[in-house]
Amino acid sequence: RSGFVALIGRPNVGKSTLMNYLVGQKIAIMSDKPQTTRNKIRGVYTDERGQIVFLDTPGIHKPHSKLGELLVQTAQNALDEVDLVLFLVDAAEGMGPGDRFIMENLKKVKTPVFLVVNKIDQVHPDDLLPLIDQYRRLFSFKEVVPISALQGNNTSTLLELILKEL
Ligand code: GDP
Ligand code: MG
Repeated sequence: RSGFVALIGRPNVGKSTLMNYLVGQKIAIMSDKPQTTRNKIRGVYTDERGQIVFLDTPGIHKPHSKLGELLVQTAQNALDEVDLVLFLVDAAEGMGPGDRFIMENLKKVKTPVFLVVNKIDQVHPDDLLPLIDQYRRLFSFKEVVPISALQGNNTSTLLELILKEL
């Protein structure tokens, strides 16, 4: 199995940390080099089951700037071209306007979306389900995967579900 997976989420939710954990520090550094394509490569994960190319889609991440319709449209088109979208959120911070902005725009995207609830090491287990319900009320996610990118909790389940989807 192989395919393209877009990693989206507001700043500081742990996108780089997840990439570093999954594909290693060396490749994640690539993400800071300027690239001309709409979808820039953040990292490539390979094992005996297949290959996952993780992409960063600029334009859908900036809810506080005055985004032109064109920029949002470009980001949406880019997300339509990938096989799967991972929407990362911060369990410790909870849902914010940045998260809602992204979910609003995801409604026009046809690609399946996983909700990846990161930083579960920072929340009480009892608080996790209500938070997930809050997200689920606003968007129909194909899968919901709670993880800790920092500690690696549940990241193997995430990889399994991604590979199953490709
Ligand atoms: P990005 O802006 O989405 O790329 O977020 P980063 O990967 O740079 O992470 C932002 C901050 O959150 C950093 O200080 C990370 O160490 C921290 N962080 C990321 N994932 C986790 C996690 O699973 N648990 C905890 N406790 N901190 C995390
Ligand atoms: Mg980052």
